[in-house]
Amino acid sequence: MGTGDRDREPRPPVRMCVRCEVTTETPVVVGVVHQNSGPGFVVYACQACAMHYPPQPEVLTVLSPPRRAGSTQ
Ligand SMILES: [Zn+2]
Repeated sequence: MGTGDRDREPRPPVRMCVRCEVTTETPVVVGVVHQNSGPGFVVYACQACAMHYPPQPEVLTVLSPPRRAGSTQ
């Protein structure tokens, strides 16, 4: 065991654009995806692509694939 968080340098949050898939240092939140299984995640886009998205973050919902009703494992 060790204490390893010593050399942490403040790096800008680099995210990958959801539209052009290019990593950007100036990500813009364009949406939040909520999943049924596990926590949701934030969708980022670069500055250029963010213009193509609505100004307000839109909440998207990922629906789990249909399962047979009444089938519990
Ligand atoms: Zn982009």
